[in-house]
Amino acid sequence: MGKITLHPILNNRKLLTAFVLTISTGLLIILANFPSNATSLPSPKLHPLPSTLVQWKDITNSGDYFSQVETTEVGYLIWSKFPIRVYVEQPTAVNNQQAEAWVKSVLQAVQEWSVYLPLTVVEKPEIADIKIERKAPPLKLSPDKKIPRARSALTSYQLYTSNNFLFHRFTILLSPSQTGNYVVAAARHELGHALGIWGHSLSQTDALYFSQVRNPPTISSRDVNTLKRVYQQPTSLGWPLIDNSKMN
Ligand SMILES: [Zn+2]
Repeated sequence: MGKITLHPILNNRKLLTAFVLTISTGLLIILANFPSNATSLPSPKLHPLPSTLVQWKDITNSGDYFSQVETTEVGYLIWSKFPIRVYVEQPTAVNNQQAEAWVKSVLQAVQEWSVYLPLTVVEKPEIADIKIERKAPPLKLSPDKKIPRARSALTSYQLYTSNNFLFHRFTILLSPSQTGNYVVAAARHELGHALGIWGHSLSQTDALYFSQVRNPPTISSRDVNTLKRVYQQPTSLGWPLIDNSKMN
């Protein structure tokens, strides 16, 4: 999908990895340190398919773009604890009316996806699985590394362990330069990544199309078909780490 860079993160207590996917180019940045000798990643296994996706039937038979979805070192980016907790930041850099409009647009995208996976909006960022912020993503360097280019949105995830289980959490940054209908379109697109579609569609009529379009589509049958296939894949997320010291 793009260039990969590795940076160690100094954290000896937690396995910590962050990945980034951008809306415009699909550039992927990996920040990783690997588990110590004492533990290793859970072997990828299937979770039960969420009932919302069991119920989903595509009567139009429109296919999917599952082949475009990336797997990662922990397998597919699948949630297994429901509802998924989403925090939407209250913007402070704009007036109340603009802040309200922004939050409303983002909540609309949350509402749209909640048809397919159980989502709940939480008030505290500390307990969120997915955080959505109105903040300019860091500039991206062009291939010649001379001209920084603006990103409209940036989605990244981190791995962490809790009670020896491996989990992930996402942060979505939506650029303040996006307004009106583009806010909901960007939120919809980035939420699709955060829910597990870690890749892009090549079709303009899908919410996960790799580029922004003038009339952004809503969640398509192909988006949901792809999501459903993702949730039928194995993952290390949501499973216990393997304790190597007990294997001897
Ligand atoms: Zn994207």
